[in-house]
Amino acid sequence: MTQQKTHNKAAVKADAILVINCGSSSVKFSLIRPLSGETLLSGLAECLLSSAAEITIKHHGKKQSYKLTAPFNHQAALAVLVEQLQQSNLVKDISAIGHRVVHGGEQYSEPTLLNPQVEQAIGELAKLAPLHNPANLNGIKACQQAFADLPQVAVFDTAFHQSMPEKAYIYGLPYSLYKEHGIRRYGFHGTSHYFVAKQAAKYLNKPLEQCNLISAHLGNGCSVAVIKNGESVDTSMGMTPGEGVLMGTRCGDIDAGIIFHLVDNLGYSINEVDKLVNKESGLLGVSGLSNDCRTLEDAMLTDNNAQAKLAMTVFCYRIAKSIASYSASLTQLDGLIFTGGIGENSTWVRTEIVKQLGLLNFSLDEEKNQATRFGASGNIADKNSRSCWVIATNEEWVIAEQSAQLLANAAK
Ligand code: AMP
Repeated sequence: MTQQKTHNKAAVKADAILVINCGSSSVKFSLIRPLSGETLLSGLAECLLSSAAEITIKHHGKKQSYKLTAPFNHQAALAVLVEQLQQSNLVKDISAIGHRVVHGGEQYSEPTLLNPQVEQAIGELAKLAPLHNPANLNGIKACQQAFADLPQVAVFDTAFHQSMPEKAYIYGLPYSLYKEHGIRRYGFHGTSHYFVAKQAAKYLNKPLEQCNLISAHLGNGCSVAVIKNGESVDTSMGMTPGEGVLMGTRCGDIDAGIIFHLVDNLGYSINEVDKLVNKESGLLGVSGLSNDCRTLEDAMLTDNNAQAKLAMTVFCYRIAKSIASYSASLTQLDGLIFTGGIGENSTWVRTEIVKQLGLLNFSLDEEKNQATRFGASGNIADKNSRSCWVIATNEEWVIAEQSAQLLANAAK
């Protein structure tokens, strides 16, 4: 109770929120003013748990890297971050820590103040997100040591999609697997889809609750979401981020029979199949060259590389098909949003996808398409088309905003 009170007082100040996105061997962080979205400091610790571990901190437009010392772990990275925050006189500005947590299951559809019960639930949800939730918990524990007096909030990547109706989240499997084991579709990238939908609502000059949108988050991971009256009603990722469209190294939807064939007839172990579908497939698998869209565009456009062209063509077709399939979820559509590293920057990908969406009345203004990249946002549609925006995503700002909001509400 005393601790809760202290937290509430801290929230009232709400100067800046330290946003933490913890992976198994990395920590991405940003110190953000929740009202304006201004980033005061940001950076990345990489190669954790190896002697190559280092942290890069960007502050006042200057980047500085520091080698970490043993044990090269998340705690070691946060110790350097705390030291730099102290030296920059920023520690006093931090009112809370906001954590990106990948899987919130059905329990969490809202940002949640962390306490031992919530942490236990995040740990239990690791069975649905074995790569992500344990890493997120690791970051939470490291921050509790480094920032013992600050409240910590979890913002879940699945939360925005908890509004999906049953018809969108039930798999065609025995219903008992859902009831007893939580095997259903959850969806991911929720924070990003929510942010860009909110931005699109501003372009449309109407409340998000009145907007009907399709959002394509295309980065190394890719997902498409359909938003009806401001709420997610379907999305392409499922129980794990592996479902849906082709991605950088993930295959997306495949016939489940392929897995039995790989195991029964081609001698794959189940771990090898896991690696194949998650790390060796997608753009990388089809091209045999790279998972990076820039490398593939270069190979296809400069060197006439046929495999790169095939990978990019399959990638775009699958995304266009996914977008078109959502005409089943809506009776009205205000527009389409492109976001994520590829969606925000690749004019080729946007052109290729939109030219397959003529039936939905989408077409691009090529001049606007070419001009809207590298952080620029705006409508790239032709004047006869429905709106089609490029919107630079900012998941960190949403996490900061929602953490501050939660603490301010708790203080009332
Ligand atoms: P993300 O996971 O959102 O960081 O996105 C990573 C993907 O964005 C990679 O496939 C990059 O190749 C792609 N990307 C970043 N910048 C560009 C660019 N200028 N043109 C094409 N793709 C890009």
